[in-house]
Amino acid sequence: MIVDRTAFDRIQQAGGYVMNTGGVPDANAIPISKHVAEEAFDSASCIGCGACVAACKNSSAVLFVGAKISQFALLPQGKVEHKERAEKMVAQMDAEGFGSCTNTYACEAECPKGIKVTNIARLNREYLGSMLTSYQVERQGGD
Ligand code: SF4
Repeated sequence: MIVDRTAFDRIQQAGGYVMNTGGVPDANAIPISKHVAEEAFDSASCIGCGACVAACKNSSAVLFVGAKISQFALLPQGKVEHKERAEKMVAQMDAEGFGSCTNTYACEAECPKGIKVTNIARLNREYLGSMLTSYQVERQGGD
């Protein structure tokens, strides 16, 4: 059986990643607490296998997207464009036709890498933060 995971690739591409390489300290020179580094590493261990989507009765991909957003959002280097990243990745996830999360936790139970649903909560916070920022800019007449 062949599983097409290209939708996952497109979601990650939508998020992109911007790094200013000029005149900044080396990434490993930025102090990061052990707890945060471990949490980011746990999120980054997602292998994009799709087991979470297969296990979900709604075919939701939020555990995968939450892990990908978290692995960057947790680290100072990933704070760059973190709100826009959440907005773009969620938009692409929706465009790919994945279903909505109804908190069954089937994804967490089936994930071979032990990705926790706390990643979904972080995704929701990042996305809501992005929406609120867009709303405030709109109200202030900015762009
Ligand atoms: S099941 Fe786990 S490792 Fe596989 S794509 Fe989903 S979150 Fe990532």
